[in-house]
Amino acid sequence: MPVTTKRKTKTRASKMTYCWGASKTEGNATQKELLGGKGANLAEMTTVGLPVPPGFTIPTTMCEAYYDQGKRLPRGLDAAISKAIRRVEKETGKKFGSNTDPLLVSVRSGAAISMPGMMDTVLNLGLTDDAVQGLIELTGNERFVWDAYRRLINMFGDVVMGMSHEVFEHEFDSVKKKHGVALDTELSAEGLKEVCVRYKKVYKKHVGNNFPQDPHKQLLLSVESVFQSWNADRAKTYRQIEGIVGLKGTAVNVQAMVFGNMGKDSGTGVAFTRNPSTGEDKFFGEFLIDAQGEDVVAGIRTPKPVSQMKQWNSKIYRELLQNKKILEKHYRDIQDIEFTIERGKLWMLQTRNGKRTAAAAVKIAVDMAKSRLINRDEALLRVPAGDLVQLLLPSFTTKSKQQVKRLAKGLPASPGAATGALAFTAEEAVARAEAGEDVLLVRKETSPEDIDGMQHAVGILTSTGGMTSHAAVVARGWGKCCVAGVSALHIHAKRKCVIIDGKTYGEKEVLSIDGGTGEVMLGDVERHEPKLSADFETIMRWADQRRRMNVRTNADSPQDAKRARSLGAEGIGLTRTEHMFFEGDRILAMRQMILAETKENREKALARLMPYQCDDFVGIFSVMKGLPVTVRLLDPPLHEFLPHNLSGQRDVAHALGIRVSRVKRRVEQLYEYNPMLGHRGCRLSVTYPEILVMQVTAIVEAMIECKRKRIDARPEIMIPLVGTYEELAQLRTLTEKTILRIKKKERFKGRLSIPIGTMIEIPRAAIIADRIASVADFFSFGTNDLTQLTYGYSRDDINSFLPQYLKDGILERDPFQTIDIPGVGKLVSMGCEGGRSVNSQLKIGICGEHGGDPISIEFCNSVGLNYVSCSPFRVPTARLAAAQAEIRSNQ
Ligand code: ADP
Ligand code: MG
Ligand code: MG
Repeated sequence: MPVTTKRKTKTRASKMTYCWGASKTEGNATQKELLGGKGANLAEMTTVGLPVPPGFTIPTTMCEAYYDQGKRLPRGLDAAISKAIRRVEKETGKKFGSNTDPLLVSVRSGAAISMPGMMDTVLNLGLTDDAVQGLIELTGNERFVWDAYRRLINMFGDVVMGMSHEVFEHEFDSVKKKHGVALDTELSAEGLKEVCVRYKKVYKKHVGNNFPQDPHKQLLLSVESVFQSWNADRAKTYRQIEGIVGLKGTAVNVQAMVFGNMGKDSGTGVAFTRNPSTGEDKFFGEFLIDAQGEDVVAGIRTPKPVSQMKQWNSKIYRELLQNKKILEKHYRDIQDIEFTIERGKLWMLQTRNGKRTAAAAVKIAVDMAKSRLINRDEALLRVPAGDLVQLLLPSFTTKSKQQVKRLAKGLPASPGAATGALAFTAEEAVARAEAGEDVLLVRKETSPEDIDGMQHAVGILTSTGGMTSHAAVVARGWGKCCVAGVSALHIHAKRKCVIIDGKTYGEKEVLSIDGGTGEVMLGDVERHEPKLSADFETIMRWADQRRRMNVRTNADSPQDAKRARSLGAEGIGLTRTEHMFFEGDRILAMRQMILAETKENREKALARLMPYQCDDFVGIFSVMKGLPVTVRLLDPPLHEFLPHNLSGQRDVAHALGIRVSRVKRRVEQLYEYNPMLGHRGCRLSVTYPEILVMQVTAIVEAMIECKRKRIDARPEIMIPLVGTYEELAQLRTLTEKTILRIKKKERFKGRLSIPIGTMIEIPRAAIIADRIASVADFFSFGTNDLTQLTYGYSRDDINSFLPQYLKDGILERDPFQTIDIPGVGKLVSMGCEGGRSVNSQLKIGICGEHGGDPISIEFCNSVGLNYVSCSPFRVPTARLAAAQAEIRSNQ
């Protein structure tokens, strides 16, 4: 009967808890979408046989249901949780809410994609005034119990009830002062008990009720608050920055507590199975003795490196190294783990694939492929193509470093070299960065609320916290320079200054930080180009063997072309000629040309420009010898070359020996309401054919000059902004004629093969691509204009509404960064099909910003483009992304 089947699927789909433990484990690592990464991996680790405290996951579907039902816990969840708790009670032999041997649990958030620190976790849940007494009797460790209780009240107040953490901090500090101690760990049991009393008081004052003495109530409220943290501003911002879309929500993990704060034989830590900065295959992490988990990440105390663990407890250290092997073999990737030692017993609390710098990603991928843990294709997929740009970033020169004052040294938390003025709050960093200033965000420690400021800053500097602190983890994920834990910094955020060694540095002061060494230096330090590692070359070689598409570059000068070629560009996909007219006295000839009112005068001015153009081309063709160079004819509207203020107009008039009024009049004539849609692109060549003739002449003469010097120049002429067949047909004829004329004039006897093609950047051109292809040797999709014209968004004005559009989910991404596959992408694939229906050999590429964006590159591969063209620095990214696209398309 259909009805029953339906009901059956429904119950299965809405299973409310998934347990893990010695007696039974219901989830596994493939279920991240349902159980979140944390939950799925806790189950997986349990199955692998690692020591994991038992617990259960409330799946993401419940979070989705919570929001679907207007923020109400789904019906039946309460009972399902009670049932799942009973299983954990059985596994541990403790009882939730018991006054003699209470089960305490943590309530942990965890979405399918890790969002470190973005959502909430509550520890030690289940403690009440009565349970405290029971636990003291059971453990005989009064100090530990009060410590756990004060943490619970604090976390519960802060996370679940939305109290400010400072309220608690204030009470804690005043008790510490009263007892004359500096560190949390120095406070006696008596002192901690007093902290609890005070915490409960401020809790009542702020919340209005007593701290709940019913563990089940504590639990339900915490679960709900984890669901709510999914939509907290910081979590939403994080997802937006990271481009995380399409998730249901967070899962909630309820797990039996293990205690790192039970004394000197206990502790807690976080580690990476390899070095996440360099990729070196060496266990890397930090731990704190007598502490609970969040202490390490929060930067309250500065932890010790795990290498020192040998001295503390060599058995545990060996066990951790053993677990590293097990985990890497199992997950076949670097793992980021959390662990706790309770009275000499090691417990694993989390594992996930470790975030790493680009350099580390490359090294780890190559190392793992060489040791056959993964194959080459997997290695290629492991390196985020977009991150390779990081490796091309400059670093400080040793010499210039010696010439500046070193103020302090901290931990090299995330590599890079950053110089900026100091900003002391995230908001300030955002505001000043948006105003165009380079700022370093200087914070005691960062928290998830700071991410917007961290994103805007050129670098991050913190005074506490370690290599795994929030600042370090987030910065590494972004490839942003970060120096953490510089204890010599005394930051006074309110007074907007930092004191180092008794000297004060304010917001105007410029510091430089070296994320590779942890140095903090005064002033601007000179930077130099990076050196690429052998592993990088290996990855690039493997990528080149695997990709189908060619990678070209967009370059307007011989220097850019040279750099791109050294980074592996196989040609130039776009040389813009307009920039060439701005240099030196060329601009004058250009202006003369524009201001000329007769064809004759225009030709005279163009004749002056010609030799310059010719030289430019000789330069670029020589650098790119043997490789194609696509030259785009003049594209922007002419008024862009004219001065718009009076003094500028005077200069031009003077230089040209004409009246200012004439210059003014011409500028006014050229004014356009909508220059983007105005007299530009091929329209210029139709109305002023002499411009095209000059440019083509320069290209052909340059080519002939190169050929005579035995330089294999391979220009391609690209006509921009074509929207009709007739435009291209007419301009092609003129181009061909000009080529022949110059060849004759130069008496050049060799072959000159110069493909003539067009940019497809007007939607109409994509639609009638079959007609256009009959007069084009190649197409190059100019997806910047194509996007502008398809959406009707001006690229230069989109920022007035884009943030809102992204926030509201009207757009998933900035369409100028990643190609809009259903819209613009459809035009691209139509253009390809249309073009190839006429000429199956038609060469097709892309030269917009999208040519360097991995997602867009994957799309280009899927529609069969021959090449992508991108800025020089993105060439390695494109090479790798093209390989990844090809690998995925075969999977
Ligand atoms: P986040 O996602 O922010 O890392 P977690 O849920 O991992 O949050 O928890 C925060 C800290 O609490 C971590 O250091 C973790 O190891 C620790 N922790 C979580 N659950 C337990 C537990 N059951 N026993 C002991 N420590 C725990
Ligand atoms: Mg964690
Ligand atoms: Mg264009």
